[in-house]
This record gives sequence, C-alpha cells and structure tokens, in this order.
Amino acid sequence: MNYFINVILPIPLEKSFTYAITKAEAEFLKPGMRVSVPFGKSKIYTGLVESIHQEKPLVYEAKQIHQILDDTPLVTSIQMKLWQWISKYYMCTVGEVMRAALPSAFILESETVISKNNEVQINDEDLKDDEFIIYEALHHQSSLKIHDLMTILDKKNVLPVIKRLLEKEVINVQEEIYEKYKPKLVRYVKLATAHTSEKALHDLMDSLSRAPKQREVIMTLFSVSAQTKKPVKVSDLITESGASSTIIKTLIDKHILEEYHIQTDRVLYEGDDNEASKHLNEHQEIALSEVIQSFKKQNITLLYGVTSSGKTELYVKLIETQLTQGKQVLYLLPEIALTTQLVERLQNYFGEQVAVFHSKYSSHERVEVWNNVLNNLPKAQIVLGARSSVLLPFQNLGLVIVDEEHESSYKQFDPAPRYHARDTAIVLASLFNAKTLLGSATPSLESYHNAKQGKYGLVELKHRYNNVLMPDIELIDIKDKHKRKRMNGHFSDRLIEEIQETLKEGRQIILFQNRRGFSPIVECNACGHSPQCPNCDVSLTFHQYRNQLRCHYCGYNSVMHKTCEACGSVELDSKGFGTEQVEQEAKLLFPNHNVARMDLDTTRGKYGYEKIITALEQGEIDILVGTQMLTKGLDFRNVKLVGIMNADNMLNFPDFRAHERSYQLMAQVSGRAGRTKERGKVLIQTYNPFHRILQQVSTNDYEHMFEEQMEDRRIYKYPPIYRMIKITLKHKDYQKVNIGADWYAKSLRTVFDKHVLGPEFPPVARIRNQYLKHILVKIPQKQSLAKTKEAIIKINNSFLSVKDFRAVRVILNVDNY
Ligand code: ADP
Ligand code: ZN
Ligand code: ZN
Repeated sequence: MNYFINVILPIPLEKSFTYAITKAEAEFLKPGMRVSVPFGKSKIYTGLVESIHQEKPLVYEAKQIHQILDDTPLVTSIQMKLWQWISKYYMCTVGEVMRAALPSAFILESETVISKNNEVQINDEDLKDDEFIIYEALHHQSSLKIHDLMTILDKKNVLPVIKRLLEKEVINVQEEIYEKYKPKLVRYVKLATAHTSEKALHDLMDSLSRAPKQREVIMTLFSVSAQTKKPVKVSDLITESGASSTIIKTLIDKHILEEYHIQTDRVLYEGDDNEASKHLNEHQEIALSEVIQSFKKQNITLLYGVTSSGKTELYVKLIETQLTQGKQVLYLLPEIALTTQLVERLQNYFGEQVAVFHSKYSSHERVEVWNNVLNNLPKAQIVLGARSSVLLPFQNLGLVIVDEEHESSYKQFDPAPRYHARDTAIVLASLFNAKTLLGSATPSLESYHNAKQGKYGLVELKHRYNNVLMPDIELIDIKDKHKRKRMNGHFSDRLIEEIQETLKEGRQIILFQNRRGFSPIVECNACGHSPQCPNCDVSLTFHQYRNQLRCHYCGYNSVMHKTCEACGSVELDSKGFGTEQVEQEAKLLFPNHNVARMDLDTTRGKYGYEKIITALEQGEIDILVGTQMLTKGLDFRNVKLVGIMNADNMLNFPDFRAHERSYQLMAQVSGRAGRTKERGKVLIQTYNPFHRILQQVSTNDYEHMFEEQMEDRRIYKYPPIYRMIKITLKHKDYQKVNIGADWYAKSLRTVFDKHVLGPEFPPVARIRNQYLKHILVKIPQKQSLAKTKEAIIKINNSFLSVKDFRAVRVILNVDNY
C-alpha cells in the first residue's frame, strides 16, 4: 500500500501538491501539521498537510517528504475551511492565504534568512550539537540563508533544527525585524536637584516672587507630592495648579524643574485586581438587551451608536457573558485604533485574559499569541487585534466584535489575499456558530443597507454617555471670506476667534487637514510646469521641514528646486496645502501656545505616535494638526474645538465612495470634540457650504446621507447595489499593458457586456516604473457571483496563455472598495 499527503505550500499554486509518505507517517500525520518538503529542482518549503490518502498523483511522480515538523496540528480544521473560503471568494490561492495567516517563523523555506537574536542570553549547554554549529556560524556571519545551513550541516533536512532554534529564541527570521510594540511614555517632573536644599529652595521662592504663576506651580508640586507620595505627572500638575503647559515649559527651560519619562507598558499587564465593569445607563441597558434579543434571531447585528455613546462598555458586558460560558472573543479594530487607551481599558476589566495581536509585533510575539490562542489558554480568551487576527487558530469562538466597522483599512489591498476583515470575520464566526457584532457611529453603506434589508439585526444607540450634547457644527464659507479679506493664510476669522476662545479656557484644539506635507504641489507661475516623480506619474510634494520634494507613492525625493526645471523661472509657487503648512501658520498665529503635528511623517520614528498622543493627553499640546490618523477612536477629554481646514479636497476625491467617506471622516473627527460634560464645537471651512454632505454632517443626518448616497449607487450601479471586481494589469512596458488590457476587456465584454468598465488608466498611471490599467466588472444582484468568478478565471487563464501577455501581472480584487 502506498500513502500520500496533499500539502498546501506557501506559494501561489492553483492546486495542493502530493507527496509520498510511509505507513508509519500516515498513521502519525493529521491535517494541519507541517512537513518540510522539497520542491522543484532545489527548493525546500514548509508545507501544511491538507489531507492524507492513497491516491497516487496521475501526472507526476510524488516525492518523499523530508520530515514532519509538528507533533500536533498547528492549524485547525476550521481555519482550513476559512482559508478555502477566502481563496474562493477573493480569487487567490490557498497558499497565499497560508502565507498571510502563519507568522513567518512558522514557514521556513529555502529563501528564509536567519540571524542571531541578540536580545536573549544563550547558554551553550542548552543547545544540541547541530544547533550549536549554527549558533557558532552566526557569530561569524550576521545572517545565513537556509541553503548555507545545508552546506554547514552537510544535509538537506535542516528545517527541524531551525525550528528548534526559533523555539529557543536563539535566532530570528530576518525579513521580520519589526519594531517592538511601542511603549507608552508618560512625562513627569520634579524639582531640580540644585534647588532641593532648604536654603536653595528659599532663594528660589524669593526669586520667583515676581512670577506668581511659576511660584504657584512649585507650591502645587510640593502639595501634590506630599499628598500622593508618588512621582508627579505633568498632566496632574497642570490640572492642580491651573497653569498652562507653557509655564511648566518655562520652569523646565530655567532648570528649576526637571522632566523625566516613565514607561507604562501596554503589552505586559501587571495590574492588580480587575476593575468591575461599569454600570450601564438606561440607554445602554436598552441597547444591550436589544443586541441580545437580536442575536436570538440573527447571527450578525449592527450596533449603530453615535460617537461617545458608550459602545465599548456595551461590548464589555457581552464579553463578560462569553467568558462565563468559556468562549473565546475576537475584538477587531483598525490597526491605528489599537491604542494604549483601549488596550488599557480592556485590561483593567479582563486583566491577563486579553491578548493583543498587532502587525507591528515581532515574529516571536506573534508565534506566542498564535500558540496561546490555539491551546485556548486563559491568557488568550479575548483577542484584541487588527485585520490579520481573523486568521488566528481559535478553538471555541463565541463572539466577534468588529469595532469601527466602516473603516477602509479592514480591507487588505496588497498583496493577496485581498480580504476584508469584517466580511471574513462574519464567515469565521459562522464556522463556529458564533455571533458577530458590527459597531460604528458612521456605519458603512453596505452594513446599514444589510441591516435595513433585514440581513443583519440593527440596534441604535443615539444618546451620548452623560448626555453630552453632540458638537455644534458650523460651516464657514471660505470663498466669501476670501472675497471679504477675512482670511489669514488658511485660517478664517471665525476659526481664529474660536481658537483664541478655546485657548483662553485652557482647552485643546484639533485641526484636521487631509494631506500631509507642506503644500502638496509646486507649480511654476511662468510656464505652469510642476516637478514630477521620475518613477510614477504624479507630481512631487513639497516638504518644507526637509526642504524636499517627495513622491508619496514610491518615496523618491530630491531637494526643492530653486528654479523651474522647464523654463528656468524662479517663480515657483505652491498650490494646495498640507498639514505642515497648517502647523506653521498656527505657530505664527498663536506664538504663545504649543502646536504639534500628527501625520505619517511625524509618527514614523520610534514611539512617534505614542509620544504625540501622550503629550496631548497630558496637556502639553494646545493645538494638534493632523491627518485622518486623528479620527481613530481616540478619547481626548480636553479637546473642545475641532477645525476642518478644507472639506472640499475630500469631497472632490475621484472615487464613488468619496461622499460616504467624507461624511464618515468628518463625523468621526467631530466626535473628538467635547467628549465630556461640555459641548464641543466644530468648524468646517469649505468653498461650498451648501454641499449636501456638509449639510448632513452639520445636522448629524446620517439617515439622509444614507438615502441619498444609496440613490446614487442605484443610478450609477455601484456597491452595495451591484458587486464589483477590479482587474488591474501591470507591466513596465506601456504598450503591453495597453494592448493586454484591450484584449482582456474585450473578452470580458463578450460575457458581461455593458457591465464591464474600462480599461482605464488610474489617476496615477505609473508607480515604481510599472504602468497600471484597470478594468471594472460590475455584477448585478441576480447574477451568480460564483459563475461570474469562474468566467473571469477562464478569461484570465486564456489571457496568460498568450505568449505576449505572460509577463503582464494581473491583480484580481474582489469588493475592491
Ligand atoms: P464610544 O465607543 O461609543 O465612542 P465609549 O465607550 O468610548 O464610547 O464611551 C465614551 C466615554 O464614556 C468613555 O470615557 C467611557 O468610559 C464613558 N462611559 C461610557 N459608558 C459608561 C458607563 N456606563 N459608566 C461610566 N462611564 C461610561
Ligand atoms: Zn517654468
Ligand atoms: Zn514615485
């Protein structure tokens, strides 16, 4: 009798591959275990056992496996079902899903590069001979490929050794040198040592007699530290003394106070007793019981609760119920909303039961979470994670919460699998017979539509917690302001007034501008030329801070030109404006206040994002200028005013969802204003104050926004009325892309006729020297999705079998919106 296994390899193959095994291996192996296998002429891969059988492959001779890598399955049967679904639905291979799902330390292959893990102290005696040889070799060479290891150990079968070394944390898999999770830094102050003696202190107080505010701060510092007997946070000092952050800064600059940071770790939970969850108010109570009722009839429920209505506290109650039933909970969040604030909040309630899964985690950390979830350990009962945590090996899932379900970052764009985590989570939950709760203050059109159609349950929470009023939103016509000379740079007189007022009250301000950089585009006043990226079809953006022109697509940069490249004129002017320019203008307008900026550029560095958020929380920033990073679920208690510098560039974005997204973005940013007691204020500057979306934002009229947008989607045949698949062709040769796209679209038209749009070059038609062309297939509701995909795959296969087109990359993107 011959025995075989089908193996999933982490590469884009249409089918799984068959290998020969012995009878003993057949008895030992189970689906979901890993094996190392040879592939092609000289490659080795980690493969995953899909099935064990006795059918010899017809067209090739099955090779033997090298070795079994696991004692028990690493991947569950439910995961494999989910992978199958993802692969079918999103038109990619199961191997691509495998690569996305498994931490890379789990999928060693010939291309893997390993290096020494310098963070761990190794005891030589803990290593077996073969492990030691590799460990030694890594002292002489900082990184080694799997092929090198084969030579060093003089054998082919090296993956087991590497696996052991990884488990002992002796080595790292190289492509993954991630920044560790960012610690939260809290700022503290103390009296500088020079002033601590009694005499010095006396002198100091004397010298401050004419600076009563500074004196007051020092007095407060004493009384606070006497009371609490603990280090004093800058934020506490500000609240207690009523001084501004500027005064504290002055004292630090004069070396009277000394600042220092203490790191509060967000990953390792070391709290004492867990806090009891909050008592829900009547609105939350009602909503909670409606959710529970809804779950009796529906597997999926949408919780539409305005910003600051207390959705999170409601989730907490639902999680408690699941835990008492011994079930696991998945709490999905957009990457950037996965903040210290929320992690801490949940850890306060659930302590060590919370596992955080973040794409910034190192491979070791991800492996650890994987194993904890797989083994259903107490410390992984609640997984709080971003997109890819839907791919974890849950054992006993009872509930999935998808918070901020409208967020576009739930959809993966590149590489395959191009899955949507919300939709995948719904499928995952159904495989467990579990429930899914979608939560948002601004639901996506598709989810609200599904709820209205009765496909999902719908529960609304319309009251903010504590009855804080929704912010007062005012639209400012900047066309008119320009005409009447009431603009100062990009600030209208109203905005300046309100900022001054807010600063006077000691409250904070957020200014939102949907672009980073100083002034995105530079243009020559004489000839109209604007500098272009040499690799991409796009104008370069001016970054004043570095005096650079940068490409936001490929990262190309050069120094800012002094003269026009085309005509030599010195009159280079900037068009449009970005966060950097807003920041600079704000600094000039409000010189006595602290202005900071939060965008991709300022948060790139280590701890960048954390530092800014903490500084805002601690009251060290008066005005924060930022991009949409600001919208994500942050709860800043002291922010009273939000200014949206220019609503028009969002509204005019060339995308069928631009209006929906603008509504969501503005409503979410507005939700940052006045989250406690006092009513917040929002000013929206626009050239077009009568725009429907702006009217709807200013009156919190989600319903009308929904109705009108749906009407547009119906007329123009867009999701959620029609479905969509986007096909992108990519190649460095312009002609190839052009001719190929015509061929492809023509074939599609023979099947789908008028429901094919394009081919069309996108606004940026060349990125990293590759030309792109899109074709869009729209799918009416009654047309079978499965049949549609089959037809596309057929056309795709014939396309790739044309010799001229073989080198063209085709990207299929299902639900590409
Ligand atoms: P959302 O997620 O809907 O924006 P949150 O859950 O963050 O709202 O709640 C907003 C604020 O109100 C938070 O600071 C939260 O701690 C507080 N809050 C909400 N519900 C309660 C409650 N039942 N008791 C006490 N505080 C609450
Ligand atoms: Zn010119
Ligand atoms: Zn570029």
